[in-house]
Amino acid sequence: MHPTISITLFATATAAVVALGLTAAPNFNPPGRDANTMTTSESDRRISASGHDVTPLSRARVEELASKLTPEQYRITQKSGTEQAFCGTLLDNKKEGMYVCVVCGLPLFKSEHKFTSGTGWPSFFTPFDPDHVTEKADESFGMVRVEIECARCGSHLGHVFPDGPPPTGQRYCLNSEALAFVEKGEEVPLESRPMAIETGYFAGGCFWGVEYGFQQIPGVISVESGYQQGRIDNPTYKQICNGDTGHAESVKVVFDPKKVSYEKLVRFFLFLHDPTQLNRQGPDFGTQYRSGIYTVGAEQQAVASKVKAELATAARFSGRKIVTEVEPAKTFWPAEDYHQDYIMKTGRSCHVDLPAAFQAADIQPLGKTTKSK
Ligand SMILES: [Zn+2]
Repeated sequence: MHPTISITLFATATAAVVALGLTAAPNFNPPGRDANTMTTSESDRRISASGHDVTPLSRARVEELASKLTPEQYRITQKSGTEQAFCGTLLDNKKEGMYVCVVCGLPLFKSEHKFTSGTGWPSFFTPFDPDHVTEKADESFGMVRVEIECARCGSHLGHVFPDGPPPTGQRYCLNSEALAFVEKGEEVPLESRPMAIETGYFAGGCFWGVEYGFQQIPGVISVESGYQQGRIDNPTYKQICNGDTGHAESVKVVFDPKKVSYEKLVRFFLFLHDPTQLNRQGPDFGTQYRSGIYTVGAEQQAVASKVKAELATAARFSGRKIVTEVEPAKTFWPAEDYHQDYIMKTGRSCHVDLPAAFQAADIQPLGKTTKSK
């Protein structure tokens, strides 16, 4: 949908803009949604640092996958069994490649982290990705040990002990039967590949409301508030809040481009805030509240510039110039925990105009509600 809709919302929205954090009720009710039609599947999705989908599988799905295992693989992964020392098929494997979960295919360990421990079980000093292996206390057999499981399917893998080599000092002790090996150069199975996800960065004034807006979009996997395009590393809110460090309050949006395009996100963003205000949004003044789209790669840069140019004549902006800066993203520094999910946690409102943004970008919001305290 093209944003030629004539909306008088700006004035009203701006009037309705409530100084940040001063009201207790959200000023947004998603159109056509109620609690019964709420979709939360996207928000429940978990993506690891290496870009793999680590959303826990349902019990039924695990059982389906486990039904294809050999009796020994089943005993070890589903019944927390242990294979006999020096018997595992992967103990002496010295090939280059990665070790994936035999049940669900999630990559768990890499050959470069394997070492000869002499214990009789394949040993590694660090996992493929810390998000892929979960640890839990195991007090069976009168011992206190730390059990390791696959983060996605919950299969038992082995244990981890604090007597490994540098640099971690950890020894991840595995059952060969819990693992499948994918040799370097072999085709990586679909279930072992990272997701094709993309990241975009948007600065539109106070990040609370901007973050909340993006959280409502189907296909958006995660949204984080932070600081960007400034001059110092690891800035704190206290340091950026006077505008001295050059940072903008921005949000990092991780999304699935198969479900929502970057172009749609840009259009949504330009209607979500007022891109014609220079170094301010609503009641907030200062360069930290400037409007910016920080791009990753030439394609995003081209898309963002195109949409910005297209909207230059949109009725909504009544001839006022869009001052949003479009430039390559510099390091994004996550904001303090208390700034994350602020609107969701507090139910407060912010300066953003959600209905206009959803309409302009033709997005049906998820309808995630805030949780009032
Ligand atoms: Zn698994």
